[in-house]
Parts: sequence; C-alpha cells; structure tokens
Amino acid sequence: MYKGTEASAGIGIGKAVLVRSAEPVIRRELAADADAEVERLRKALADTAVRTEKLASELASRTGEKEAGILQGHLMLLSDPTLIGEIESFIRKEAVCSEYAVEAVCSAYAGLFSAMDDERMRQRAADVKDIKNRLQQVLQGIEPEDAASLPPGSVILAKDLTPSMTAGILPTHIAGIVTEQGSRTSHSAILARALEIPAVVAAAGILDAVSDGDDIIVDGNAGEVLLRPSEAQKAEYRQKREQFLREKKELERYIGRPTVTLDGVQVELAANIASPEDVEKVLRYDGEAIGLFRTEFLFMDRTSVPTEEEQFRAYRKTAAAMGGRPVIIRTLDIGGDKEVPCMGLKKEENPFLGYRAVRLCLDRKEDIYRPQLRAILRASAFGAVRIMIPMVTSLEEFRETRQLIREIQKELTEEGTAFDPHIPVGIMVETPAAVLLADSFAREADFFSIGTNDLTQYTLCVDRGSEKVSDLYSPFHPAVLRSIRHIITCGRNAGIPVGMCGEAASDPMMIPLLLAFGLNEFSMSPSAILQARKIITGYRTEDLQEMAAQVMKLETAGETEDFLRAFAGC
Ligand code: PEP
Ligand code: MG
Repeated sequence: MYKGTEASAGIGIGKAVLVRSAEPVIRRELAADADAEVERLRKALADTAVRTEKLASELASRTGEKEAGILQGHLMLLSDPTLIGEIESFIRKEAVCSEYAVEAVCSAYAGLFSAMDDERMRQRAADVKDIKNRLQQVLQGIEPEDAASLPPGSVILAKDLTPSMTAGILPTHIAGIVTEQGSRTSHSAILARALEIPAVVAAAGILDAVSDGDDIIVDGNAGEVLLRPSEAQKAEYRQKREQFLREKKELERYIGRPTVTLDGVQVELAANIASPEDVEKVLRYDGEAIGLFRTEFLFMDRTSVPTEEEQFRAYRKTAAAMGGRPVIIRTLDIGGDKEVPCMGLKKEENPFLGYRAVRLCLDRKEDIYRPQLRAILRASAFGAVRIMIPMVTSLEEFRETRQLIREIQKELTEEGTAFDPHIPVGIMVETPAAVLLADSFAREADFFSIGTNDLTQYTLCVDRGSEKVSDLYSPFHPAVLRSIRHIITCGRNAGIPVGMCGEAASDPMMIPLLLAFGLNEFSMSPSAILQARKIITGYRTEDLQEMAAQVMKLETAGETEDFLRAFAGC
C-alpha cells in the first residue's frame, strides 16, 4: 500500500497507465533567417492557442467556467505581449531556433514564479511550464498525449500531471489519478476534484513499483493506493466504492441546510484543519466554522520555525477565507506523537507525559509562544478568530497565557496594529486534571473544546498510537463518557459554549449522546460534515434524554458501545 495525499474523493479501481510526459529535447540550433524563425514561432503560438481554446471549451462543457478558467489563463499567456516580445527578441539577438528561445524565456519566468511566497504565484510556474511544453511540441510536430483516447477503467500514473493533460481526460474513461508529486492545491488536483475523479497526489515511490497494465486501486478518501490488489481486496473496495457513491449523492441534499434538530436545537458544525489550503474543502462541505486549526503542521517538514509574519499570513488567510465565521486557532501542540524536527527537541522516555504543548510554549515564551500569539492576535483583525490552548492541566497555565495575551495586546495597541480586543480565549479539555477542574476553568475560559483523542488516552492510560493496546482505547468507556458529560455540564452552568474537536465528534454512535448532553459545537474532518448534519437533523433532543440516562447507567465500554450501536442503527 502506498500513502499519499488525498486530492479528490472516491474509490477508483482499474488498470495502470503510465504517462511519461514527452518532454521535447531542446537543442541550441542556430537560425539563419531570424524573420522566418519569428514567423514560425507566431504560427506555433496561433496553433497552440487554437488547441488550448478547444480544450477549454470542452472542459467548460464538462465541468464549469471556473475550471476552464485555468486554460483561459493559458490562452492569455499565449498572447501576452511581454512574453512573446521577449521570445522574439531572444530569437533575433541570439540567432537561435524558436524552441530554444521558448525554453530560455519560459524557464526564466517559471523560475521567478516558483521563488515567490504566494502559493498561487508558484502555481503560475506550472502553468508557464505547461505552455512551454505544448508550444515546443507544436514546433516539433509532436502529437500531445491524448488522455481522451485511453480505454475505460484507466488509472493514470504520472510524476505530475499538467493542467492541459488533466483537462483532456474523459471522466467516464479514467478511474483514478495518482501522481508522485503535487499537492492538494496544484491545478491538476483542482481539476481532478472538478471532474470528480478519485485522485491521490504525492504518492512517493509508486512509479518505480508500477508497470503498465497492473491492477490498481486508488482510494481518494484515505489518500492510499493499492498496487496489484488481491481478489478479496478488489471486492472489498468495489463495495466501498458503491457505498461512497450512494452516500455522496444522498448527502449533497444537506448542503446549505441549517444544523438544527427536529425540536429546534441549533448546533454548530465545524471543521478541523491543518493549513489554510484546507478551507476550500471546509467551504465545499458547508462547514459553519473552523473548530480546530492544528497549527503544529505549519511547523512540520521544514528546517526552521515559521516566523511571526509567516504564521500571521497563514492565520489571516484562513480567517479571511471563512468570511466572518468563527476560526479557532490552537496554539502549538507538539510533543507526544507530533514530532517537529525544526524545534530540535530531545527524545523523552514518556513523550505524552512530557515537555509538550502549553508546557513547552510557556517555557519558550520569547521564541515560540509570543510570536505565535502575536500572529494570531494580528489575524484577529481579519475575522472571528479565537485562541485555544491545548493540554492544559492547571489554572496557572491558563492564567499565564492570558497574561501574555494581555501584554501582547498592550504592545499591539502601542504599535497601532489592529486586533480584536475581545478575542475569546478557550481551552481544550483533554486531560483528567482539566476535567476535574472544569468548573473552575469554566469561570475563567471563554469556551471549552473537548479533545477526546487525548482525553481517552489519558483517562484510560492507553497510548493512542500503540497497536498493542488499541482494543482498550475507547471513547465509549464509561469513565470517558462521564468526563464528557461533566465538562458539558460545567460549561453550561457557567454559560460558556462547549465544543468537541476529537474524532468522537463525528462518530454516528456518539452524536446522539452528545446532543443529549447539550454539546454546542461539533468539529470534525471536513468530509464528515454533511453526514453529521444528516444525523443531527434527524434527532429530537427531547427523545434522546431517556437513552442518555440509560447509557450512563452502564458500566463497561463494551456495553455502552453495543447500546449506542443499536440505538444509532449502525
Ligand atoms: C484531541 O486530542 O482530541 C485533539 C483534537 O487534538 P489532537 O488529536 O491534535 O491531539
Ligand atoms: Mg489533543
């Protein structure tokens, strides 16, 4: 099994087709007649534009104007007077062939774009390279790859797909797309989603292992690829596919609907994200808020800690994209299973009980906590931003953070920098200490969010990542359920909202119980939102009270789980 990034949802089962992009070989040939060479270039530009226009209109009829806009952008580049002028003067000055001039000028442009900070500008580099290749193919009389001619059931595998190759794809013929490079925001990923073809990107190493014609399964929901699956695996994934398609169709009805129970109780359906890029998915699935922004992901896969400015840009982008809907930004929660090499932390015997999250932040106020809190506060001027502190075990940790926030607010006022002076500051309730002190915390914190992933591990003393004890890890354990009920009751008594951002919030067996307890906000992976809305809007909270009372009398995880499974009909 190969792990990558899920780029487009769904399950694709088919035969592998390796696409090796035919990059034309470009040599520095001299051109004797510069005028004739420029003429040759102009003709190639016109031919390429015609081909691109055709592709764009085909794509517009299959997806929509927005997606075809990517190719419209290519058309604009193909008639850009500055770009064309530079290629023409390169031909005249250097007396070289068009192919070489195109290579030199377009590569320089692509280099400039890829060095930029802005993700969208970096994407322009891929567009310029795509145009460069097609232009050179036309100049050399090479027929471009025609994805439309691939047989039905093809799974395309490539290092990376260019937008024009993806645009030529017939969704009825292509069962899936797998690339070794790319990200969720690359244009080919955007197009794969628009065409609704299951896709996994960044599946490292797959090209070395696969051969043309191999059986292959693409799981765009989990970001996984199965090469040469067994008959049993194929049958299993066929079933998964059927179920996915059925559910997807049905769930679309819940887009745009309020999340209200049958007896009129409104709750907030929010999303967990790890980067600003995830907001697109949140909006697609109609998330009403961000209930958890796991900022530690901004610190991973890099050699230095992100600066205040970098963090500010990421938080501002998220807040602005959510257009006034709440965005809960969690301060750095590293340690435990979340390793961040750029912090250079020493390995610990018991990382889950060690130097992590708020403990580390309070110990490294100047280089870690202050810049992050400043970045979040500055971003609060651009949306409904909230601050959430993870792994809290004592009131001192909360008070010290509040004090630091006050100091920064004073600093920002003196600098004349905008921020929200009433920014809510809440805590994750995910340690037994915080549960037992929930009444005290509720008097000081502006909101609670229950982190059942850690709360389960700390309450039951079960490492959440250890396979050996995974059968003991259950949020349905009565000790965890009683903790959850206690937290919600304390929050309600103090008049503060209580949410949940652990995985249990989207569990169909847990949702009715949480509704009965009076949870205000459910936060989950964006793709789980519509299903949760369907479940929530089907219950009447009054009818759930009796069920909750019965569950709370049970004394083992097995009993509560069986009871809730039967109740939810799962
Ligand atoms: C949790 O512990 O439930 C939680 C949401 O946080 P994380 O999974 O990031 O530890
Ligand atoms: Mg946690």
